[in-house]
Amino acid sequence: MKNNKKLRTWLDDFNLSHPLVIAGPCSAETEKQVLTIAHELKDTDVSIFRAGIWKPRTRPGMFEGVGAIGLKWLKKVKEETGLMTTTEVANANHVKLAIENDVDVLWIGARSTVSPFIVQEIADALEGTDKIVLLKNPVNPDLSLWYGGIERLYSSNIKKLGVIHRGFSSYSKSKYRNNPEWQIPIELQNKFPDLPLICDPSHICGRRDLIHDVSQKALDLNFDGLMIESHIDPDNAWSDAAQQITPKKLIQLMKELKIRKLSVNQEDYIKNLEKLRTKIDSADNDILDILGKRMKISDDIGKLKKKENVAILQSKRWNEILGKMILEGKERGLSEEFVLKIFKAIHQESINHQEKIIKD
Ligand code: PEP
Ligand code: MN
Repeated sequence: MKNNKKLRTWLDDFNLSHPLVIAGPCSAETEKQVLTIAHELKDTDVSIFRAGIWKPRTRPGMFEGVGAIGLKWLKKVKEETGLMTTTEVANANHVKLAIENDVDVLWIGARSTVSPFIVQEIADALEGTDKIVLLKNPVNPDLSLWYGGIERLYSSNIKKLGVIHRGFSSYSKSKYRNNPEWQIPIELQNKFPDLPLICDPSHICGRRDLIHDVSQKALDLNFDGLMIESHIDPDNAWSDAAQQITPKKLIQLMKELKIRKLSVNQEDYIKNLEKLRTKIDSADNDILDILGKRMKISDDIGKLKKKENVAILQSKRWNEILGKMILEGKERGLSEEFVLKIFKAIHQESINHQEKIIKD
């Protein structure tokens, strides 16, 4: 991977020439597992090592994480590999323990973001620290709940904030574990353009064969980074086995992903795009004005026809108009198919207007 985007805020401090990559197992299982994976990920594009130690499982009775002992393992990861570390926090005590044990980045999981009480508790516990905090989207596709979490964290003076898009659950089955609903993170990006946006393809896909395409899509949409679950023995992972990839596969993936972005200065691109969009908006208004004018003329014709008791549909004249319009359209670079569609729609609207006039 290579990067040519303008990085922002706390992400600048990473001085990366590519998107931020966070990787590591879904769950810390043993000290050996954690350290083996971390050693395979050091000296790659990965900057932050992830591992869940308190696992929010949907149903009880599943592996719920190793708990606070995992914090010692994360400390070792940092000492031995130089990687930064991150884990999920879901209450004030998790925050306290993670901070005491020097975890660099804290993330708030999708099942926590749905609860304003939990987010507020975490935000209060974080007040006065300068930790990097990443807020996952809520499990349900509710943008305002995600905004609410951001606002609560900002209110607690969290300056180094980022968001993670991990997809949204739905009752109907799809090929994804959590549907990406790309329009939601895009809308969030428009509202908070300076907030680093990271994609978590692992939890979107739920299966490893889709991770490449979802990661590429995120990069094409200008995401700032990826969080990808990586396990030394994915099939035997204690949680999320189907979606994890080996560190080797991850390194290969990072090489394959392309940043198909503007190599030119992004600000110029945005400015130019903005100018062109303004022109399009004004052209769209012109189209509506002219259609309105045309319809008024058509109304006058309707009145005239009513007075003289003449039929609305004059096919001969209409076919002449269409033939002429197709030729004129071609000169303006418009296809016959398009011109036909547009004028049939205009004609139908005229007929509707005139029918109404004649009936009244
Ligand atoms: C995780 O990252 O392992 C996790 C539990 O994610 P989410 O909150 O997105 O389900
Ligand atoms: Mn997971």
